[in-house]
Amino acid sequence: MGATMSTFQHIQVPQGEKIAIGADGLPDTPSKPIIGFIEGDGIGPDIWKASKFLFDKAVAHCYGDTRKVAWMEIYAGEKANKVCGNYFPEETLDAIREYNIAIKGPLTTPVGEGFRSLNVSLRQELDLYACVRPVRHFEAVPSPVVNPDAVDMTIFRENTEDVYAGYEVKAGTPEAEKLAAFCAQEFGWELSGHTGLGLKPVSEAGSKRLVRAALRYAIAQKRKSVTLVHKGNIMKYTEGAFRKWGYEVVRDEFSDVAVAWADCNGDPGDKILVQDAIADIFLQQILTRPKNFDVIATTNLNGDYMSDALAAQVGGIGIAPGANINYETGVALFEATHGTAPKYADLDKVNPSSLILSGVMMFEHLGWQEVAEALTGALTKTYGDKRVTYDFHRLMQGATLLKCSEFAEAVAGNL
Ligand code: NAD
Repeated sequence: MGATMSTFQHIQVPQGEKIAIGADGLPDTPSKPIIGFIEGDGIGPDIWKASKFLFDKAVAHCYGDTRKVAWMEIYAGEKANKVCGNYFPEETLDAIREYNIAIKGPLTTPVGEGFRSLNVSLRQELDLYACVRPVRHFEAVPSPVVNPDAVDMTIFRENTEDVYAGYEVKAGTPEAEKLAAFCAQEFGWELSGHTGLGLKPVSEAGSKRLVRAALRYAIAQKRKSVTLVHKGNIMKYTEGAFRKWGYEVVRDEFSDVAVAWADCNGDPGDKILVQDAIADIFLQQILTRPKNFDVIATTNLNGDYMSDALAAQVGGIGIAPGANINYETGVALFEATHGTAPKYADLDKVNPSSLILSGVMMFEHLGWQEVAEALTGALTKTYGDKRVTYDFHRLMQGATLLKCSEFAEAVAGNL
């Protein structure tokens, strides 16, 4: 082992090696990499257990005993509160920063009152600015649309700004009175202190780095188009500016490989076409004309809505993976799109596919392509066998209902 290892108060560092990040921001994966995991709340422990079992099986299937993941448990949410007496221990951030790659289950966020979202805090504190969510259909997976195979998109959702920044004041508080008075005095805006107020920051640097990441992905994956999705007709200086800055990136930095629609009249030749769409019509067109869309770059809240809407078209959030990535520091945190689904907690019932597919993204990112392919192939075969969890079972004719853990075993059997 080359690099020195920190010691933590609660986190046990396993035998293994740190994943270093190269100058290109990509991981240089050793044969026994230490990878952090957060089990998560609600259904988190069930889906993590099923996923970890399968990840270990797939790595052994591909590499025998020459490669193996050294899993390192890190704490956040309810388990962190039990183990560390704190929902969001500082050493969790330290461990992810030091070991660079981690995967997590969902974490609970109270609505209206209580602490801020731990998921949002993790993304912001680690500056994981790109939330990457591929959405594609697997044969045999039940879908509410006629032609789910037409959906093959990857969403790049800005992850650190927008209304998610958490700059909000509660109606009726001295803070709301103060902000309303300031806005009235400085801008002539008629607001009362009995109004909840929030800020929507969208910066040039934040928008440009996200669009840059989407374009680089489109180039690497040989995709045909990037669509900037925004609500810039209404929010001109935030959403509208996101669109403007996006096109500036195309023209200033990528003109050899990409071209804006306005600069080629919709005929990009062999370059990547960059177009834009207003968020509301986009939500219609992903249903009516999904083939028009490929890579999507969008602001934070739009990206949240779009991820779930698109996931529904290919089988729901039980099968929607994701990654939160900073392409400069190389820190990446993989996680499912869905939440903690508390009513299904500890029932060994839900679909672990979202977390398994987040693992597929992680193994691709680590350069363990064989594992990613083995997992994808085995998942596809298992859906084809109609051996599925309750969410798919209720929509499939003649399917076999499996528990969460049984589904993982069935996939392992198809490796
Ligand atoms: P949710 O995604 O947890 O669940 C909504 C519904 O989707 C569930 O009732 C269930 O029917 C279905 N579902 C979700 N995951 C599934 C799976 N793996 N298999 C099958 N069906 C599944 O959304 P919610 O109920 O709005 O949120 C619950 C909690 O999760 C909240 O505290 C919320 O803040 C949190 N949340 C966390 C994350 C995250 O950790 N990244 C993301 C979204 C929501």
